[in-house]
Amino acid sequence: MTSYKELGLVNTREMFKKAVAGGYAIPAFNFNTLEQMQAIVQAAVETKSPVIMQVSKGARNYANGTILRYMAQGAVEYAKELGCENPQIVLHLDHGDSFELCKDCIDNGFSSVMFDGSALPYEENIRITKQVVEYAHAHDVTVEAELGVLAGVEDEVQAEESHYTKPEEVIDFATRSGCDSLAISIGTSHGAYKFTPEQCTRDPKTGKLVPPPLAFDILHEIEKKLPGFPIVLHGSSSVPQDEVDTINAHGGKLPDAVGIPEEQLREASKSAVCKINIDSDSRLAMTAAIRKHFDEKPGDFDPRQYLKPARENMKKMYIHKIVEVLGSNDKL
Ligand SMILES: [Zn+2]
Repeated sequence: MTSYKELGLVNTREMFKKAVAGGYAIPAFNFNTLEQMQAIVQAAVETKSPVIMQVSKGARNYANGTILRYMAQGAVEYAKELGCENPQIVLHLDHGDSFELCKDCIDNGFSSVMFDGSALPYEENIRITKQVVEYAHAHDVTVEAELGVLAGVEDEVQAEESHYTKPEEVIDFATRSGCDSLAISIGTSHGAYKFTPEQCTRDPKTGKLVPPPLAFDILHEIEKKLPGFPIVLHGSSSVPQDEVDTINAHGGKLPDAVGIPEEQLREASKSAVCKINIDSDSRLAMTAAIRKHFDEKPGDFDPRQYLKPARENMKKMYIHKIVEVLGSNDKL
């Protein structure tokens, strides 16, 4: 048993309370590699932002759970080395799909876990979420639950269609499950292809897809039912079109990749939404920098030569999100 407290990590309780009260959102960046972790920590320290580093089941399979845990511990020490006296870093399990997986993470240094029972029948979702909450709270770990289904693909999480969260269910769900925060479905979506061209309109000037707006009416209804309760948005990458264009200009093939416009995320950050998950944008920033580098310098073969610009590009993106979209800068 390794408590996250020994690793210098924090849970989300105080962080979310401040974010809801302050009208900003905490960035939740997924990571699988050293370069992503370094870029996340550098961006958080430079902007004085709290940060959630999250790991999906797929990331644990890819990078190994033990290594990721020590990377999170390394992130705390690295932040201190960069001059941050009191780093606020959460290690979070993204889309835990069983009690056993959540327990394993809690026993191995995670400070926050998500149990995603959104695909289960309602009562089953409550039952397992509650089981996770009881174990987690005994270890002062916070729990995110999910109600409503997001469309898209994220590692092993996949759904064809979205089902918006029903506001009439949230009080019952939050009360009976005991969860600390709730991921809702209001039109965000996993992956770099969040919407099909049929769901979008096209900007006549650029020819780019314009996605349908988020269901802010549902968000506001949920806020009214659960005043001050921390709300989470998954699948909230913006899929920056300059990165997509760079990828496509250097041999890539991502036609019609489309995300959530940043103005909408900016608006959501000011509400009870206090955690916004961003994964695809980091993948795109990394891939764009690497493709460009290979194209321009085909003789390079030292991974540091192309991973360094990749890391810089991700850091730039993380800083942009923190300062220009979520507003979590200068909160340490
Ligand atoms: Zn997700």
